[in-house]
Amino acid sequence: KITLDQVVKTFDTFRAVHGVSLEIESGELVALLGPSGSGKTTILRMVAGLEYADAGSIHFGDEDATNIPVRERGVGFVFQHYALFPHMTVGENVAFGMKVSKVRRSKDEIARRVEDLLRLVRLEGLGNRFPTQISGGQRQRVALARALAVDPKVLLLDEPFGALDANVRRDLRRWLREIHDELGITTLFVTHDQEEALDLADRVVILNEGRIVQQGTPEDVCRRPGSAFVMKFLGDTN
Ligand code: ATP
Repeated sequence: KITLDQVVKTFDTFRAVHGVSLEIESGELVALLGPSGSGKTTILRMVAGLEYADAGSIHFGDEDATNIPVRERGVGFVFQHYALFPHMTVGENVAFGMKVSKVRRSKDEIARRVEDLLRLVRLEGLGNRFPTQISGGQRQRVALARALAVDPKVLLLDEPFGALDANVRRDLRRWLREIHDELGITTLFVTHDQEEALDLADRVVILNEGRIVQQGTPEDVCRRPGSAFVMKFLGDTN
């Protein structure tokens, strides 16, 4: 379980996150949904340990996250623009995290695991291709396989399907939900796309100007939007 308690983050004089409190249960798939600039990425980066909160706390289970170095938090990331290494094959990209990890694995073990992961993301047989030789949707699946390679306890996804067209996004959504259900991994997902959040998440957390304005199951927030902002935002289609 991840707990954020009154987390604040200011850049120079600009307050990007204003006292956000949030609990993410183990195994839950939670979407952070909000317009551009609402603080979603900043929250994700603080959970990852790439930014530090100015005030408030973040706990992983009972442990204060500030005491856990980034590499020991057990988080895997997929970012929209977190490109694959272009000079490495798909298989080498997936293997990368395992090679630099503290957990020592033999070459054979790594090769087997890369095959398993490519099967999991339905890309078996493409391990020898280079990133330019596969589609954008396939690249994002490789990025997810790479994130999963080190057995993260938590998966952080920042607009992972942002750059792709609507049909591919829909397919990837269904597929991500299946993978999530198969692995039961705690997942925090950032998006500005209402449809994506409502379709995919167990719980939707809606942000505006660095504050949580509402959270609940997709049904809850659709049936009982708590403010004019939420009603308008959920009603907008991209
Ligand atoms: P988007 O969907 O556009 O990425 P977001 O909801 O993820 O938006 P954040 O990226 O968290 O929003 O940014 C929140 C606010 O904080 C924005 O106004 C942004 O300009 C500002 N901000 C983020 N990072 C920095 C930084 N390193 N230095 C200064 N300001 C920043």
